[in-house]
Amino acid sequence: CGIVGYTGFQDAYEVVINGLRRLEYRGYDSAGIVLDGDSSTFDVAKTKGKVDDLVAISKNLSGKAHVGMGHTRWATHGVPSDSNSHPHLSNNGKIALVHNGIIENYDTIKTMLSEKGFSFQSETDTEVLVNLIEYVMDVNKDFDFPTAVRYALNEVYGAYAITVMHDDFPGLLVVARLGSPLAIGLGTNEYFIASDASPFVEFTKEAVYLEEGHMATISLESGVDIRNIKDNVKITAEVQQLKLSLEQ
Ligand code: GLU
Repeated sequence: CGIVGYTGFQDAYEVVINGLRRLEYRGYDSAGIVLDGDSSTFDVAKTKGKVDDLVAISKNLSGKAHVGMGHTRWATHGVPSDSNSHPHLSNNGKIALVHNGIIENYDTIKTMLSEKGFSFQSETDTEVLVNLIEYVMDVNKDFDFPTAVRYALNEVYGAYAITVMHDDFPGLLVVARLGSPLAIGLGTNEYFIASDASPFVEFTKEAVYLEEGHMATISLESGVDIRNIKDNVKITAEVQQLKLSLEQ
């Protein structure tokens, strides 16, 4: 039920965990985190339970990365469990995704992907989407990662706010929204992503609220690039000045 993402110079673990705590009021049954640090694969920790339970199993990830994202889950497809918790990784382990909302046609896509040889570790609708992105990249070798996310999103029905990372595209966060909220915090040499501004208002007062049907590619090198999911038309970001305080 909550998403936090970060790319910048701070310890991503601290920013994400503290951000998840600020989103706890939304309610949830599980929590997870993925970091892109120096190791050759993503560092992932996830568990049924509270953010405190996540911290208990993931303290060793503190100080390891400057890029990462986290999730608090309110189960809709699949019981609350460790394996159904987010983030979900694609079959090749290179794509990580967190999702709030529901992918309505996950069953049809899951059948198609299973026929192509994909396997699934969870009962979630979310795991289908991350593998669909991998499949789109398999089939279209010339697609870069954001293009593959856009193509996959055009195949799904439902409601979502997502954040996606790819191990071959370090420092890049791809986000999208249809029916669930997502805000991008604009700092100096750092960017934040969250379901609402409360996780990052202590770091920046500038935010872009992603609008319905829009996606964004976020990196320190290229900034925030917003597109229409349907047709890839570029959108000019409308920057809001936050008046929130932490005591909201
Ligand atoms: N439908 C997804 C699941 O059940 C996401 C739930 C949420 O919004 O947290 O895992």
